[in-house]
Amino acid sequence: MTHKHHDIELNLKHQFGFDSFRQGQQDVVQRLLDGKSSIAIFPTGSGKSLCYQFTALYLPHPTLVVSPLLALMKDQLEFLQSHNIPAAKIDSSLSFIEYNQVISDVRSGQTKILMVSVERFKNERFRQFIESVPLSMLVVDEAHCISEWGHNFRPDYLKLPQYQNELNAPLALLLTATATKEVKRDMARKFSIDEDNVVQTGFYRDNLHLNVEYVPQHKKESVLLDYLSTKAGAGIVYVTLQHQADEVAKVLKQAGLNARSYHAGLKDDLRQEIQTDFMQGKLNIVVATIAFGMGIDKANIRFVVHYELPKSLESYSQEIGRAGRDGNKSDCFVMANLDNISTLENFVYGDTPEKSAIEALLNHIDTETDQNRWEMQLIPLSNQTNIRQLPLKTLLVQLELIGVLKPLYAYFAEFKFKFLVDENQILHEFVGERAEFLREIFLFSAKKKVWASFDSDGFFKRHPASRKRVVTALDYLHEKGYIELQSKRNTEVFEVNSALLKVSELAKDLANYFQEKEIKELRRIASLLDFFQQDTCLSVNLCRYFDDDHFNNLEKQGCGHCHVCVSGKLNIPAATTAIAPDLGKLQQTLQELEFKFTQVIGEPPTMDSYCRFLAGIASPFLTRVRARTIQGHGMCAEIRYADIRQILLSLK
Ligand code: ADP
Ligand code: MG
Repeated sequence: MTHKHHDIELNLKHQFGFDSFRQGQQDVVQRLLDGKSSIAIFPTGSGKSLCYQFTALYLPHPTLVVSPLLALMKDQLEFLQSHNIPAAKIDSSLSFIEYNQVISDVRSGQTKILMVSVERFKNERFRQFIESVPLSMLVVDEAHCISEWGHNFRPDYLKLPQYQNELNAPLALLLTATATKEVKRDMARKFSIDEDNVVQTGFYRDNLHLNVEYVPQHKKESVLLDYLSTKAGAGIVYVTLQHQADEVAKVLKQAGLNARSYHAGLKDDLRQEIQTDFMQGKLNIVVATIAFGMGIDKANIRFVVHYELPKSLESYSQEIGRAGRDGNKSDCFVMANLDNISTLENFVYGDTPEKSAIEALLNHIDTETDQNRWEMQLIPLSNQTNIRQLPLKTLLVQLELIGVLKPLYAYFAEFKFKFLVDENQILHEFVGERAEFLREIFLFSAKKKVWASFDSDGFFKRHPASRKRVVTALDYLHEKGYIELQSKRNTEVFEVNSALLKVSELAKDLANYFQEKEIKELRRIASLLDFFQQDTCLSVNLCRYFDDDHFNNLEKQGCGHCHVCVSGKLNIPAATTAIAPDLGKLQQTLQELEFKFTQVIGEPPTMDSYCRFLAGIASPFLTRVRARTIQGHGMCAEIRYADIRQILLSLK
C-alpha cells in the first residue's frame, strides 16, 4: 500500500485539523502503512498518539491501544471523538448496555480504535471477545514499561508480545518518551522490530535551563522561597512524599504565594479541580508528587523545581519536559543533596524477594495444585510468602513466560449484594426456569442486616458448572438496578505444568533474575547522582543517556545554559553522616523482633527482614508483626542498606 505524500497531508488537515506533521510522525506513519512494526521515541507532548490515530484510519481492521493508565485513555478518546473518529474504550465504568454497544461496533469494524488498559487482558470475557475479531494493529503506549531495564516496569506488559501473536495483529507500534539504549534494544527484541523501524526524534530542548544546586535539607524551604520570589508564571514543585507536598504548599501559601498541593491521597474531584485551576491559570504553583503530570499539557509552565532528587533520569526528563512547551525560556531547578539516597535505594531493596521466599512460593504452588489447577488471591499470597505485591506479580508473569503457569480465568470468590427492589418483585419479572434459577441464588444468599452474601460453596454443590451463569445473572440484576452488587476476593485460576516446576532450580534462576534487576535499579540511581555532578554539559549528557545523537554542535560547545555551562561542575557533599546506632539498643530491638516473628510468623526473621526492619522498609511479614509498633523500627533509615547488613553481620 502506498499513499502519496500529498494525500496524506490533505487528510491530516481534513481529519485532525493539523497543517503539517510534526517531527517523526510521518516517518512512523509511513513505516506502518508499509506494513512494518515500529517504535516511536519522541519527547512527551510532541504527538506520539497521532502516529496511531492517523494510521488507524487507513487500516482495514480496528487498532487496539493498550495503555497503563485509564486517565491517559480518557484524553485521547475525547480528542478522537471530537474529530469524529470512531473510537471507544473498554473499562469498568461501562454499563452493560454500553459494553455491548462497544463490542458490536468493534466486531462490525465500525470502531477504528479501541483503547484498553493492560489489566483488561486478565478478563476472560474480554480475551474471548478480542481474540474473535480481526485486528490490524496493536499499539503499546508508554512502552518502556515492558522493560526490566526501564523505569516503571510493569509485569503485565511482559505478556504483550505474546498477546500480539495470539490476537494475530500483524502490526505493532510502541510509543515512549524515554528509552535508554538498553530499553530500546529490549523493546525491539521482544516485539521483533527491526532497528531501521525505530524512529527517534531529538531530545534536546534549547529553551530549558537545567539548574542544580547543592541545598542541605534544613535550608530547602528558604531556598525555595527565595527562588520563587524571582519567578513569575506557572510552575510545578515536585516532592517525594504526600505529606511533604502538603507541608511545602502550606509554607508557600503562608508566604503569600498562590500554591496548592497535589497527590494521590486527595479525592478525585479535588485533584480535578486543582488541575483545571492550574490549566486555566487560576492557580500558579502546584506542589506535587509524581502523581501530577500525566496528561498535563499546559504550554506556559515557566519552571519545574525538584525539591528532592528525582527518582531517576527518566523521571527527571519527563518532569522537566512539562516546562516550556510554548518554546519560551523556562527554568528547571534541582535542589540536590545526598540525604535521601538511602530512601531511593530502599524502594529498590524492598522489592527484591528473598530466595527463601521464592522457594516458599514455588513449594506453595506445588502443594496447593489440585488436578493441575492452582487458585490464588494476591493479597493473602503476598502475606503468606512475604513477597510484596508488585514483585509477586512479576514472579507469576515469569512463571507464565516459562510455561509453568497458564492463566485460565479469574473469578470473585465472594459476592455480596443488597436488594434495591423487593426480592419477590424481582422474581416476578422472570418466568419459568430463569425465575427458578434466581430463586435458588436468593435461597443460597444469607441475609444479614442489609447485605446478603452468596454462599457459593453450597450453591455450586447443587448446581455444578453454573458459575458463569450466576455471575451473569447477578451482573444483570445489578445493571437493572434491582440489586447493588459487590464482588470481592478476586481469585485467579492457573493451569500448572508440574513437570516444569522444579523448585530449587527455578528458585535459583528467579532469585538471579531479581538480583540482576536490583543491580540495574541501583545503577540507575547511581547514574542519576553521576549525572548532576558531571563536568560536561548536562544537556548533552541527558541526550547521551537517552541514546539521542541529535546534538551535533552541542557536543563541542555545550548548550550554554545548563548549570555546568554556566557555573561549572557541581560537587554534592556526602550525606550528613548518619550516626552509627547504639549496639546495645540494637541488640535489644532485634531480640524483640525475633520474639514477635516466632510468635506471629512461626519462624525467626531472615537477614533481610532484620535489615528491612532497621531501614524502615515495609514487607508483608513486617506488617503482620506490626513492626512499626516495635521500638527501633527504622532506626537505621539514614544508613545505606548494604551498611546495615554489614553492621548486622558484625554482630553475629
Ligand atoms: P505525547 O503522547 O507524545 O506526549 P500527544 O500525542 O498527547 O503527545 O500530543 C500532544 C499534543 O500535540 C496533543 O494536543 C495533540 O493534539 C498535538 N499534536 C499532535 N500532532 C500534532 C501536529 N502534527 N500538529 C499540531 N498539533 C499536534
Ligand atoms: Mg502519550
